[in-house]
Amino acid sequence: MLICAGTLVESPGRIHRPGHLRMERGGITEIGSSLSPLAGEEVIHLPEITLAPGWVNLHAHLELASLSNAFPPGNDFPIWLKQILARLPGLTPEVRRQSIRLASQEALKSGTTSVVSITSDLPALAGLTRTACRVWWALEFMDLQSRPDVAATVERAMAWLSRNPANAWHLALSPHAPYTASPKLYREIMDSSRIHKLPFTTHLAESPQETSLLAGKKTSFWDILPGDLQRDDFGKSKSPVEWCRENHALPDGAMVAHGNELVPSDLPYLKEHRVTVVHCPAAHDWFGRKAFPFDLLREYGVPVCIGTDSPASSPNSRLDLRTEIRLFCEKHPQVSLHEAWQMITTTPARALGYESKLGTLQRGCWADWVGWRIPASPDPIAAILQGKDPAEISCVGGKITMHETI
Ligand SMILES: [Zn+2]
Repeated sequence: MLICAGTLVESPGRIHRPGHLRMERGGITEIGSSLSPLAGEEVIHLPEITLAPGWVNLHAHLELASLSNAFPPGNDFPIWLKQILARLPGLTPEVRRQSIRLASQEALKSGTTSVVSITSDLPALAGLTRTACRVWWALEFMDLQSRPDVAATVERAMAWLSRNPANAWHLALSPHAPYTASPKLYREIMDSSRIHKLPFTTHLAESPQETSLLAGKKTSFWDILPGDLQRDDFGKSKSPVEWCRENHALPDGAMVAHGNELVPSDLPYLKEHRVTVVHCPAAHDWFGRKAFPFDLLREYGVPVCIGTDSPASSPNSRLDLRTEIRLFCEKHPQVSLHEAWQMITTTPARALGYESKLGTLQRGCWADWVGWRIPASPDPIAAILQGKDPAEISCVGGKITMHETI
């Protein structure tokens, strides 16, 4: 199939006018400005549309979409977490599946084609037949009450994936956070991630209460943890990253959600282990966090991506990465829109290990692209990121969705 658009954004430095893209069996086979249809080839003409790579959101909780606006902003973090944990068993499989369906549609409409979604209840996915976006199901583990069977869960998830080959679905692994997952569980998940070559992600250094807990100081976390919890690793680390270092709990290439509570001595460790930090600006604001240490991360060359987190802790219930980017650039005016573009395209693609497939429009990449109707502009990147309307058309793995506006 040949798509003939007005403009094609391969990357910020490579814009094609007109923009032609040929795709076959879910992948891009050719791009350029003067591709001619092959004999019998289907052609779609989109002269007023700008094609761009679909965005990659490295931190979301699609299954929690039904909790949008369920809690007031600015709450004490452990109290908020306690409320969420209490609501999880009440989220029936059908409610979770419906949340996933709707949230993935919203994400796709606003330009995102790939989402890493934290998944706390694997059985709830049974019966899910499709999602609008490509999804990495990040299986979440905790061992506050009992030890989960990581190997059996991964096996079940792989079997489920193989029964659904038509979907653009992948797996990832995620110990929840240092206060709900022990060092032993982190290491078991690291081993599994290495054996099965699955991306590893975790919530880390998110709140000051987490830092205090790991440093052995008084914190409201103690009110939500089980009274008989045995954790001799608490109270020995001056930062959550130091906790990882002391407990060998972070694999090379890990994706760390949040990273708000960093100290300068953490940075060489993050750099050495090729960690990517996923910052969620709207959720950051929602909790009233202190300034995100972007300059410190940039100084050390630690990659930063932009995610949305969950609608239960953010006003961005549509998982619109443009909202997150605008908020981020407002707080960090030293970052250009072109640099911000990398944080939702090539940088997250690299963090997932799929830089040859995602984040850009080139031969050999997956056909994951978005078509925008934007005002004529010499800088389509800025026009797309500053826009608020839904995309006109999206494509995930070669499957096209038109977003009708009536
Ligand atoms: Zn999260």
